[in-house]
Amino acid sequence: MGDKNNGVVIVGAGHAGGTAAALLRQYGYEHPITLIGDEPIAPYQRPPLSKAWLKGEADAQSLMLKPESFYAEAAIDLILGTKVARLDRESKIVELADGRSIPYEYLILAMGARARTLPIPGAELAGVMCLRSAADAETLKAALGPGRRLAVIGGGYIGLEAAASARALGAEAVVLEREPRILARVACQVLSDFFTNYHRAKGVDFEVSAMVEGFEGVDGHVTGVRLGDGRTIPCDAALVGVGAPPNDELAREAGLQCENGIVVDEHARTADPAVFAIGDVSWRPMPRFDRMFRLESVANALEQARQVTSVITGRTPPPHEVTWNWSDQYDLKYQFAGLPFDADDIIIRGDPGTARFAVFHLKGDILEAVEAVNAPAEFMAGRQLIGQRKPISRARLADATVSMKEVAA
Ligand code: NAP
Repeated sequence: MGDKNNGVVIVGAGHAGGTAAALLRQYGYEHPITLIGDEPIAPYQRPPLSKAWLKGEADAQSLMLKPESFYAEAAIDLILGTKVARLDRESKIVELADGRSIPYEYLILAMGARARTLPIPGAELAGVMCLRSAADAETLKAALGPGRRLAVIGGGYIGLEAAASARALGAEAVVLEREPRILARVACQVLSDFFTNYHRAKGVDFEVSAMVEGFEGVDGHVTGVRLGDGRTIPCDAALVGVGAPPNDELAREAGLQCENGIVVDEHARTADPAVFAIGDVSWRPMPRFDRMFRLESVANALEQARQVTSVITGRTPPPHEVTWNWSDQYDLKYQFAGLPFDADDIIIRGDPGTARFAVFHLKGDILEAVEAVNAPAEFMAGRQLIGQRKPISRARLADATVSMKEVAA
């Protein structure tokens, strides 16, 4: 193995990288830890950026994963505002863009993902933006307010959470989605219909099956979004939320196998035993499915950070979790667990009309996934049942008068 004195170098100071650095110390790792990020601020949480932060309900301090002083106290060398230029796996060195070289025994790649941009005319106009970093959120926040109109390209999590926040700030919002329904990649039809209706009732407009062809502007600032059918949707600002490809270029250039992200095993290790990849940038096995997947969630970042730091410190890695995530919009808490890859049927418990319900995805009598709206008991019991894989009574599950405790018994 490599030289222990070189310690661990973590590339990417997001939720995954920041957590891995802290866990290494928590697990008693005594060698050097270097955490490198290209943003100028210490690791912070991104989820509030499209919600509480955008609405002015969270300050910069509350976003931080750890207080600034933590890194010096924990002897973690935090290098911020710095890009990594190259990974030299043969010499086990990370080369920084500023010319410095940092040797490692173990390398953890946690570069995350970036907001996809649209290569269409007008994309360079002022007021056309994306939302990934705290700096992006600041720009977007400044564009929202009473009398302003936000056009959101993409009806995914970013788009819907930003639309809800825009409405809370008194701005108008219109969501333009390429697919025939919003959330097509991440939620079922019932949820798409529910969120469409809920947002509409809050004053959000939708255009689905919308082909965005370009942005129009006056004096260098966006004034509208041009659609394929010839219409122009007027706006004062446009948020592009059309997905987030992985930042896996450094790994590709270093000869590591990449698919939709850096290929890792069930403990987030690449084919190079000294190199791991965690969080949004990893293309990972899904324990209960015979397939690889890229999970874009905080829960995944934390799970893989725990796996890697356990392996490095000689601990037994924790058992695999049932994947889960959440989204907050208005007074709605949407939570899901599992993945419905193999499901062949759904059961709806509760009434979507009351904004308190859950959709269970089953394969036969086995629960594969649950999508819950303002239904934490359904979410928690569902998540547990997915992990247990034991057959359940479909009749009891469908009957909202039977408690989830009884369903799970
Ligand atoms: P996303 O969930 O992939 O949604 C993007 C949506 O935009 C998809 O429905 C996509 O449709 C659509 N789209 C793609 N190209 C389009 C085009 N040219 N015109 C109109 N629509 C288009 O990604 P996102 O919402 O941008 O989120 C980015 C990242 O932030 C993801 O990693 C996401 O998980 C994360 N995030 C998560 C949360 C949360 O978990 N609560 C909140 C905010 C952000 P297709 O399916 O056809 O591509």
